[in-house]
Amino acid sequence: MVRAEAVCKSFGHVDVLKGIDLEVAAGEVVCVIGPSGSGKSTFLRCINHLEKINAGRLWVDGRLVGYRERGGKLHELRDRDVAAQRRDIGMVFQRFNLFPHMTALENVVEAPTQVKGVRKDAARARGVELLERVGLAERVHSYPNQLSGGQQQRVAIARALAMEPKLMLFDEPTSALDPELVGEVLDVMRGLAESGMTMIVVTHEMGFAREVGDTLVFMDDGVIVESGDPRRVLSDPQHARTQAFLSKVL
Ligand code: ATP
Ligand code: MG
Repeated sequence: MVRAEAVCKSFGHVDVLKGIDLEVAAGEVVCVIGPSGSGKSTFLRCINHLEKINAGRLWVDGRLVGYRERGGKLHELRDRDVAAQRRDIGMVFQRFNLFPHMTALENVVEAPTQVKGVRKDAARARGVELLERVGLAERVHSYPNQLSGGQQQRVAIARALAMEPKLMLFDEPTSALDPELVGEVLDVMRGLAESGMTMIVVTHEMGFAREVGDTLVFMDDGVIVESGDPRRVLSDPQHARTQAFLSKVL
């Protein structure tokens, strides 16, 4: 579903990604850990072309991200085609970024109706289903400021799912939450993983990574230092940098 080959990204003179290779199969859940500044968010942002890579290749669902290859040369896609690619990729951030003046349901319905042209009544019916799925049947008509952080984050997940993405990217979705609200969001993500969604999850939640992740990736300084079965990586890290990082967070 996702394939990264020697992906490099720099900002000015700062090399942030220094050759990332990663393959994510359909239905796989990949958790990404690593120190602050190691490039985790940048990598996620490259996957949906919010950042343009400087070298390497990235594919999502078999299609080159942001470019078309012709005669061995890369040509940038038009904005319209980039937007079409992005529609297949749901993203959930640390901050929930809900529209504050819209109810939970209106937040969920917005993109399918405005971007995809889904009919309002169909989108609303689907929106209610999605909000039920994330445990918010009772809060469909609540505004974001009437919801807890955990509830807002679940609305954000429902909103991303409303576009029927093939891939979901999560960037520290629980880091901004009070500890007692983390579990309810992780439970929704676990359910999503069990339903077969392909997911890349940047997280500090090692329990989630161990139990839900198929693969755990440790990034440091713009490279993947180590990756593999989460239990193996967590219990028996092979690299000194992984060991040092885990000794601080476990
Ligand atoms: P954290 O765990 O703190 O979220 P991260 O692993 O997600 O860290 P990134 O946010 O990807 O790290 O940042 C990696 C490096 O890239 C940092 O040094 C950061 O300052 C730099 N960086 C990220 N975005 C930009 C930008 N738009 N312009 C310049 N530098 C940037
Ligand atoms: Mg980050």
